[in-house]
Amino acid sequence: MADVPGIGLPETGDNHGAFPRLTDEQLDVLRGIGTRRTAQPGEVLFREGDDSYDFFAIEEGSIAIVQGYGGENRVIAVHGAHRFTGELNLLTGTGVYLTAVVREPGTLIEIAADDLRELVAENEELSNLIMRAYLQRREILIGMGTGLKIIGSRFSPDTRRLREFLTRNRLPYRWRDLEDDTEAEEFLRGLGVTPAETPVVIWTRGDLSRNPSNAEVAARIGLSSVGPPPPLCDLVVIGAGPAGLSAALYGASEGLDTQAVDEVALGGQASTSSRIENYLGFPAGISGSELAERAAVQARKFGARLVVPGVAVGLEQEDGHYAVALAGGEVVRGRTLIVATGAQYNKLDVPDLERFEGVGVYYAATPAEARLCEDDPVLIVGGGNSAGQAAIFLSRTTGSCHLMIRGGDLGKSMSRYLVDQIERDERLGVMQHTEVRELRGDDGLEAVVVQDTRTGERRELPAKALFVFIGASPHTDWLRGQVALDDKSFVLAGRDLPEDALDAYAGDRPLFLETSRPGVFAVGDVHAGSIKRVASAVGEGSMAVRLVHQRLAR
Ligand SMILES: Cc1cc2nc3c(=O)[nH]c(=O)nc-3n(C[C@H](O)[C@H](O)[C@H](O)COP(=O)(O)OP(=O)(O)OC[C@H]3O[C@@H](n4cnc5c(N)ncnc54)[C@H](O)[C@@H]3O)c2cc1C
Repeated sequence: MADVPGIGLPETGDNHGAFPRLTDEQLDVLRGIGTRRTAQPGEVLFREGDDSYDFFAIEEGSIAIVQGYGGENRVIAVHGAHRFTGELNLLTGTGVYLTAVVREPGTLIEIAADDLRELVAENEELSNLIMRAYLQRREILIGMGTGLKIIGSRFSPDTRRLREFLTRNRLPYRWRDLEDDTEAEEFLRGLGVTPAETPVVIWTRGDLSRNPSNAEVAARIGLSSVGPPPPLCDLVVIGAGPAGLSAALYGASEGLDTQAVDEVALGGQASTSSRIENYLGFPAGISGSELAERAAVQARKFGARLVVPGVAVGLEQEDGHYAVALAGGEVVRGRTLIVATGAQYNKLDVPDLERFEGVGVYYAATPAEARLCEDDPVLIVGGGNSAGQAAIFLSRTTGSCHLMIRGGDLGKSMSRYLVDQIERDERLGVMQHTEVRELRGDDGLEAVVVQDTRTGERRELPAKALFVFIGASPHTDWLRGQVALDDKSFVLAGRDLPEDALDAYAGDRPLFLETSRPGVFAVGDVHAGSIKRVASAVGEGSMAVRLVHQRLAR
């Protein structure tokens, strides 16, 4: 027993529902699906680096969950009787990044991953319990920095790319910054890795990749293990933010063979929001990442194929269907298409902006960014809801926090409930009639020069981070020349389409949300005149599926 990690450690306390106990009745249900078996101390139930693993509920005995088993032996949790193993990757099918070792002898119920997914899809009570626990466990693992390691400089765009990709996909990882980690530098030198080959990713099996692409990372951790698309889907959805996920979920649940593809991560912009407080049914608010995670599990439950990363670069009409070309040469074909590619944040018109992006200038305020500027002075630009939410969130952890707006009235484009919270928040200041003119700093952001729009007076404010939320432009380059766009490049649909864009309808009329091409629909933020809210994006995604049926019937 001496080599079993976790001996002597107490069972991990239940952290916000991360480690709940199963009732006798719930264990009975699990016995009906799985296999009962005994377990001996030191037995490894699953190992970090494995492609997949089974679920274990503990009748008797205990299990230690360990990172770096046999080496680092860092005990992440200890589960006792009536608890269960697993994490979100058991439901999503991505690779295993921790090892489970039996600590005390006992009896377990073992359930294969596919059977567990079926159970979560069908048993409401167990689904809620397991789903909540797994979401909480993922939060804990992200906070602890378990999983694969990235070694790279904070000034490297590829380090930023990899970190953003993993963060947006809510995958835990550890980052060692070559700028101030001499041990990591020596480690790489020992392996013969040159600075030009960084960043490197060290996988949970211990092997290493030099500057891998996002697609390589996704393939390695099993992020898009759905296999090749069929020759022709009923419905292809491009973009898997709230609108695209909703379309994929409704499409699949209504029997359409559905494939959704996203360039970066499931959940879109919403998944970068620290707390969405105005989405129906969540009175205490819900983090964007949790909403996305739940939606993805739900869409997969109905059989939607969700592929990440995949970038749509072109659209063509072929014989009675549409073909979307993806970067890398793949083509996805569908009888109908839902465009849900959203919009991207507008950038500040200041010199040297790129030099500071990711090292002081940010477009999202999640716990990952908040950690980078803990106790530092922080500025936020923007007068909309996303700026307001970011300001409230950041004011809790940063040294000083100021929200800057161009106009003189915060309530002009921000919801009243946020304005009230900001006005009550003593840690948060508001600077009106203010515009950013210059960013200053050598290795990272140190100060921002701002100008008073009424007097023209300029002053320098200390700032380690500047968060920018000043509107968005649509992701429609890949549609240019194929569907009608408005003057700001948002997709026109339904009654907004001008008469001269209706040739393809040959006397018929476009349906609501239908673009200038019959069978191609636009939903969410990419749709001209959209409301830019999670609820409206989700609503349009579901409505479009109804309209897809109508178009197919015609
Ligand atoms: C920080 C922040 C906080 C917010 N808070 C709230 C809130 O509290 N309440 C609220 O109602 N709204 C909020 N919003 C707005 C809300 O998130 C958006 O309105 C909503 O996400 C729009 O959904 P969407 O699916 O249309 O687009 P998006 O969420 O933008 O998703 C579009 C997806 O398409 C993908 N994509 C783009 N181009 C391509 C391509 N060529 N190929 C493949 N994929 C592509 C992107 O990677 C992205 O995942 C917030 C937004 C932000 C940024």
